[in-house]
Amino acid sequence: MQTNNNRIGSIDVLIPVYNEEECLNDLISRLFKTLNKISIPYQIIFVDDGSTDNSLSIIKNTCKNFTQCGYIHLSRNFGKEAAMTAGLDCSQSDALVIIDADLQDPPELIPEMIHVLEEKRADVVFGKRKSRQGESFFKKTCANTFYWLFDKMSRFDFPRNTGDFRILRRRVIIALQGMKEHDRFMKGLFAWVGYKQLEFLYDRDSRFLGQSKFNFFKLVSFALDGIISFSIIPIRLATFIGICFSLSSILFGCYFLLKTVFWGDPVAGFPTLIVFISFFSGVQLLFLGIIGEYVARTNTEAKMRPLYLVDESSLPSSHNI
Ligand code: UDP
Ligand code: MG
Repeated sequence: MQTNNNRIGSIDVLIPVYNEEECLNDLISRLFKTLNKISIPYQIIFVDDGSTDNSLSIIKNTCKNFTQCGYIHLSRNFGKEAAMTAGLDCSQSDALVIIDADLQDPPELIPEMIHVLEEKRADVVFGKRKSRQGESFFKKTCANTFYWLFDKMSRFDFPRNTGDFRILRRRVIIALQGMKEHDRFMKGLFAWVGYKQLEFLYDRDSRFLGQSKFNFFKLVSFALDGIISFSIIPIRLATFIGICFSLSSILFGCYFLLKTVFWGDPVAGFPTLIVFISFFSGVQLLFLGIIGEYVARTNTEAKMRPLYLVDESSLPSSHNI
């Protein structure tokens, strides 16, 4: 239930971190500078996603020195979507900001986003990228194509050119906390929730230092997860194409039958046969693969494993193993 008062009483800032030792100190000082200017009590939640560099010790040191900070250290690298879920699960504030650790999303924009959320009585204000610095033409084209496809395939509005940089109100946080699916395409879940979502245009900077953790294959598997967990159109396509080919094979059958009856059948058409067999084998394998993708995901969900395991945490609300 939405409260009448649209002002936010407390705010959490969630940062998924995986091997970001080069960026963390600058991120922390820019965040403090920004958040200390707003009059809302805040908590910074670092989720260390099994970093193998110095990230965890930088985070722990910061949390020791500043009471406004807390951390969750996952037992291994579970991926950004799981890291964000871990932070979301322990958020208890009126609102939550999600921001990357590599300073691609400028922390200085947070107060403006809060302002839009409060003034426009929105439930979500999401960053929409006017420009994306430091990303190749290939990556941008692939991303645009994927988001266009996702928007067409899903049954809800899916804003393009957005990342995870956003601010969510409590009722959206609660809705997301209730979603326990394993194949987590968070941008899809954020949009699926609905409520009043407003865009906030910004220029996305280049990564401050270090390298992107998503290579081409990770991005392709991320895109597949996204489409398959939000749409059954690929399987529908199998049914549709199956129907078309079945009907045309009946017509072909009739044609060959009549041809044989009226004109006889000297042995001919071997190349046609080969072309048909290889084409249909390809189509069958493709759709077996698509069906397999869905079955594999059902299998993962059926195991009901936790989405992540916490190794240690300074936050009382996160589960400690
Ligand atoms: N990240 C994470 N776990 C991972 C990969 C990335 O928590 O397995 C974090 C990373 O530290 C950063 C954010 O997710 O804070 C975005 O990662 P990255 O900058 O590599 O992605 P890109 O901006 O290239 O899409
Ligand atoms: Mg980045």
